[in-house]
Amino acid sequence: MPSVALLGATGSIGTQTLDVLRAHRDEFTLVALAGGQRLAELAATVNEFSVPAVAVRHEADATTIRGLVPTSTEILVGPAGLEELAGRADICVNAVVGFAGLSATLGALRAGRRLALANKESLVAAAPVVERVRQGQVIYPIDSEHSAIFQCLGESGRDDGYREVSRIILTASGGPFRTWPREDLQRITREQALRHPTWAMGAKITIDSSTLMNKGLEVLEASALFGIELDRVDVVVHPQSIVHSMVEYIDGATLAQLSEPDMRLPIAVSLGAPHRLAGGFGRMDFSKNVELTFEAPRWDDFPALRLAYDAGRRGHGAPTWLSAANEIAVEAFLDDRLAWCDIVPVVAATLDSYDDQELVTEADVWAADAAARDIARRVVAR
Ligand code: NDP
Ligand code: MG
Repeated sequence: MPSVALLGATGSIGTQTLDVLRAHRDEFTLVALAGGQRLAELAATVNEFSVPAVAVRHEADATTIRGLVPTSTEILVGPAGLEELAGRADICVNAVVGFAGLSATLGALRAGRRLALANKESLVAAAPVVERVRQGQVIYPIDSEHSAIFQCLGESGRDDGYREVSRIILTASGGPFRTWPREDLQRITREQALRHPTWAMGAKITIDSSTLMNKGLEVLEASALFGIELDRVDVVVHPQSIVHSMVEYIDGATLAQLSEPDMRLPIAVSLGAPHRLAGGFGRMDFSKNVELTFEAPRWDDFPALRLAYDAGRRGHGAPTWLSAANEIAVEAFLDDRLAWCDIVPVVAATLDSYDDQELVTEADVWAADAAARDIARRVVAR
């Protein structure tokens, strides 16, 4: 029975992964967990699944959780704890949010374990380093668009760089402001931005979806995951979030994956591939007048998308800076220190200070992330 380490267990993807594991109790065994602030929830999961090891962020958290779990539970701390647990199971589900997920991504790949990846930020921020550490290993995407592409690509073509794929078409819901007139985008509140039309997700990715930065990060994620150049990655807005993405081949055929918006399906795909787990999530009922529409993104009104392509073309640390500055700007918006319409300008202004440092080692990535955060904080404060 494959063992699973679930890192970021208390979040949106984490708890939906637990749902999938509950539905497949006889097929997987949960051997490691990690979480952030929600220690009571983390401890409850340790107890429910009798998990032998758990990682927390700080020593103080270790003391707190010690009182909530059996004495035999091993407790690890910090990025080193995350990295260690990522390499301990057959499958590492990286459901941590933000750059903090880097230790889990690298830990799983270094240990040669299956990486089931929700944490797109680590891949975007550290693409050249991940590419080297990965040594040809397949990464199993959880992000719904990338899972769709993974399913449409199949196993063939990987070795020749997907020569027969003419392009990948990522679908985007367009977020809550898809149809809003440009003037109204100046006065968006936290509550409006946190109300996603089709998906219930953690706060950071919900805000990223409202600015389309999420799609920008996903363009870079797709390129890194599948080794396909940015010029072969397109975006189309599809408000129903049923076609999760598409692959167009050189003969003109387009393959798509459809399901109701339910993250438990791509999670199950990442755990079970190449097999399909029985039961199922997100099954479609086509007798109910399903409407599927597609439209072009509003590039000028949602500038995050172009900014991400530009950062990707620049390469090296530019995506690291993009992602780090975005984390700082989103955090400031959620804290009411920044207006919604200033999130993407903060990222753009931070990138103006980026001077093309190379990313070779993991230390370079941590340094680039820290430098970008520092500048982004100053941009937010001014
Ligand atoms: P949440 O905010 O809901 O959850 C994030 C998880 O990460 C929580 O368990 C949190 O712990 C944990 N965490 C935060 N910092 C650390 C740390 N330093 N060490 C260990 N754990 C930490 O986010 P989501 O589940 O929405 O997103 C997770 C990732 O998946 C993101 O990268 C997102 O882009 C991606 N994703 C999410 C989708 C979704 O539907 N939610 C869809 C596609 C991709 P705690 O809550 O205890 O503080
Ligand atoms: Mg997605």
